[in-house]
This record gives sequence, structure tokens and C-alpha cells, in this order.
Amino acid sequence: MNARVFLVGAGPGDPELLTLKAFRLIQSADVVLHDSLVDRRVLAMASGAEKIDVGKRCGRHSSPQARINELLVEQARTGKMVVRLKGGDPMVFGRAAEEMAALDAAGIGYEIVPGVTAATAAAASLQISLTRRGIARSLHFLTGHGAEGGLPAHDFVALTRAGGTIVTYMGVKTLPGLVAHFIEAGMDPQMPAVAIENASLASERRWAGTIATLAGILAEAAPSGPTLVLIGEAVGQNGVDDRDAALTFLATDD
Ligand code: SAH
Repeated sequence: MNARVFLVGAGPGDPELLTLKAFRLIQSADVVLHDSLVDRRVLAMASGAEKIDVGKRCGRHSSPQARINELLVEQARTGKMVVRLKGGDPMVFGRAAEEMAALDAAGIGYEIVPGVTAATAAAASLQISLTRRGIARSLHFLTGHGAEGGLPAHDFVALTRAGGTIVTYMGVKTLPGLVAHFIEAGMDPQMPAVAIENASLASERRWAGTIATLAGILAEAAPSGPTLVLIGEAVGQNGVDDRDAALTFLATDD
């Protein structure tokens, strides 16, 4: 079955972080269905395509997932080449499974094109090795926002015991709850924690602290762009591991 639909990762924002395959597909698409995390410069590459914004950002107008699935099927049935462009990687908190199921049910072939996920873009910007040898032996991607809304019931004890690097997507609003659970599970309140907004873009901002301080710092800073929270010993190993230095790091950012 030939693919007529491509679920394509648009990366974290910087257009240079697109894969060559994504670039080629975006340029040759007839229709691009994109969410709001996709950078304008990336969309501009789809010069010949009809662009449909199905964007989902907290609290703003968006298309329900069922409608996006329907649109994908409708567009593919017209014989057009459809690119479904998603921020980061489509398989990481991207609801790709639902879109694949809809396409499967309609008998439409598709292909997935990976992208740079926010966690690795953040690691690059912050110069943090997420799996630093001798410090972090595992890497955990969490969502701070479950299907029912609010903080999901992660296994905080197991995560704390694992001692790896924890990267939380969609986790700013629920950070106070997340941190309370980690501290209750025995995590050191001095555990380094960093938040980064708009990683890879010129508008990037970052804040460093500990799990005990970061929620307060973010409440004040009120980031409005997509923001990732990184927690773990490895996070404090980028030259800003000392707590005072972390504050300097914070102060150099506006
Ligand atoms: N599929 C995407 C994630 C979608 S969930 C990926 O692989 O990156 C949306 C969340 O991703 C945001 O709430 C934020 O936590 C994170 N995110 C996406 N792009 C980001 C960026 N450029 N900088 C920081 N966080 C980002």
C-alpha cells in the first residue's frame, strides 16, 4: 500500500533541525495539516500546499482529535499527498496512535517521519547530557497533563528510585503537584531542575533551580510558549550545578 499520508515530525522549532526527508515531503505536499507548535518558517516551505491549522495549545481554539482524524482521511481520499506536521517527534506525546488507527480503519497507507523531540533539543541547548555516564542510567519522558486533565498518576516512587533524568512535557501547570509527589517519594528537594521555553528558537528562555524552587520561579516567569521541565542529577552537571551559579544562570536571562 503506497503512503499517501505522512505523519511528519517538524522538530522543536529551528527549521534547521528538520530532517531532509521532512523537508522534501513538506515541499511536495498538496495539503499540510499542522498543529500550532510548527514554526512559521517550516510552514513556508510548503509553498504549494493548502495549509490547515488544526492547532492544539492549552486554552486556545483547536480542533478535537476526532475532527483531525476525519480531516486526514477526507484529504487522503481526494488523492492528494497529505502531510500531517507535528511539533517535535510524532511518536512522542503526539497522538499519532489515534491518527494511525483512523487511517488504518479507512484503509489508507501512511508513513511516519521522525523528528527531533523537545527533550533532545532542550538537552542540546542546555548542553546537558541526559544520560551522563555515572550519573544518569535512564531517561524518562513524562507528561504533566493526563487524558483526564491534571497530573497523571505516575509511579513517583519507582521514578525516584531509578535516579535517572526525568523530562516532563506539558508540565508547567502541574509542576507544583509533580514536585510534591517526588519529594514525598523521597527525592532530594535539592535535586537540580531546569525549565526551558521555546527550545531551539531565538525566543528561548531557561530557568534553573531545584525541584524545591523551580515551580515558584516558573509561577513568576509565567512562560507562555511550549516549556519542558528537566529534573535529575545530570541536569545540574552543565556548569550550573552549584545552586548560586544556577541563580546567576537565571539572572542572565530576561
Ligand atoms: N511531539 C512533541 C511534543 C508534543 S507535547 C515533541 O516530540 O517534542 C507538547 C509539549 O512539548 C509542550 O507542552 C512542551 O512541554 C514540549 N515542547 C514542544 N516543543 C518545545 C520547545 N521548542 N521547547 C520546549 N518545550 C517544547
